[in-house]
Amino acid sequence: MANPKKKHEKNLAGAFYCTDPDDDGGEGCIACNVCYSGAPEFFAEDDHGNAYVKKQPSTAKEIELCQEQIDACPVNSIGKDG
Ligand code: SF4
Repeated sequence: MANPKKKHEKNLAGAFYCTDPDDDGGEGCIACNVCYSGAPEFFAEDDHGNAYVKKQPSTAKEIELCQEQIDACPVNSIGKDG
């Protein structure tokens, strides 16, 4: 489960979010490229390659696509409130 207390500051407000990399090596985005390659309409990379949500999904199909990125993220760095 992505840590909701470590949300990337560039996430667009809404249910879906990405979490910051953790310098302690605990958790957070590792800039693996999966989500912003798989769903570039909704996820983007910052200057360090770390992901943030740039658009919140609204339709069922969009939500499904973003949910797939949650499932695909190797370090559980994408979360969904609610
Ligand atoms: S899939 Fe996860 S680790 Fe990879 S870039 Fe996206 S948020 Fe970061």
